[in-house]
Amino acid sequence: MRTLQELTRPNIWSLAPYSSARNEYSGHVAHVFLDANENPYNAPFNRYPDPLQGEVKQRLAKIKGVPEECIFLGNGSDEAIDLVYRCFCEPKTDNVVAICPTYGMYEVCADINNVEYRQVMLDEHFQVTAEKLLAATDSNTKVIWICSPNNPTGNNIYREEIMKVIEQFDGLVIVDEAYIDFSSEKTMLLQLASHPNLIVLHTMSKAWGSAAIRLGMAFAQKDIIDIFNKVKYPYNVNLLTQEQAIKRLDDKISVEKWVNMLLLERGRLMQAFAELPICEKVYPTDANFFLAKMTDAQKIYDYLVNKGIIVRNRTRITLCNNCLRVTIGTKDENGELLGALRFYKE
Ligand SMILES: *Cc1c(COP(=O)(O)O)cnc(C)c1O
Repeated sequence: MRTLQELTRPNIWSLAPYSSARNEYSGHVAHVFLDANENPYNAPFNRYPDPLQGEVKQRLAKIKGVPEECIFLGNGSDEAIDLVYRCFCEPKTDNVVAICPTYGMYEVCADINNVEYRQVMLDEHFQVTAEKLLAATDSNTKVIWICSPNNPTGNNIYREEIMKVIEQFDGLVIVDEAYIDFSSEKTMLLQLASHPNLIVLHTMSKAWGSAAIRLGMAFAQKDIIDIFNKVKYPYNVNLLTQEQAIKRLDDKISVEKWVNMLLLERGRLMQAFAELPICEKVYPTDANFFLAKMTDAQKIYDYLVNKGIIVRNRTRITLCNNCLRVTIGTKDENGELLGALRFYKE
């Protein structure tokens, strides 16, 4: 691996971060706060929130089995994705490599940051080899993006190939595990301690049922997390989000219950899709959605929209011609979708 200094943009490496009022007194017990120009009325919303979200991280450290100093929290995983570019990729010079098709934000953030985005096509099983990914890199490649389970295909990328990429690439490897709670595969968090170039992304938006609060996380060794924390907005996760996250994290049982119900429904719904005359193929999945190849995705999509049922039309995505991406809903919602599809006439 290149050194972290070699991988970091020079201006970021030498950046003196903003020091907030709440940072400077830390470590002391205080009760009179006249340091941050806050209004003393309207508690608790008058106060700036904890810039490093200590209470949330305390819980996450236990649940995820990762030390607190190896956790970054942001306004959705999307903040972490953007920070990867802002911290490590020099606009107009550096590049990143990603699989294709995959989650759209990696490319959007590359475009916004004016960083070249190189795509490596998945094969017909939606898999990729380490060899192909590494062949797309050059000396200006800072990052390889791997989403597993992948969106929109739903499958896990072969673990052996991911490990080879991490071990053979001399830059950063980001593994986005937004759907890991639905997967039969183990999390890559177990690899963090032994792999200094690995960054793992998780989110509260899927299995944890909290897309509205916008809380995403990046896990990596401390020196990478320190760079993210230096560059992020000082108060990037608001108090309402931190409080709601704590509530959710203290009720892990509900999440396990939801995941189990969704996995059961996933099996049922995929089976039913496979039996629809208008469905040509149901692709295997390890996420809370699946991809289905239909006879005419656009027409079926429009028909469903007309009935107030929205799935994701992926027909114009590489390798996904005539595919719909279907999120698993409640038993009733899935039933309504199936009822409508059984009535569909070509
Ligand atoms: C849904 C999703 C996310 C979650 O993003 P948030 O900003 O945390 O809501 C991240 N990565 C992938 C691949 C996703 O599909």
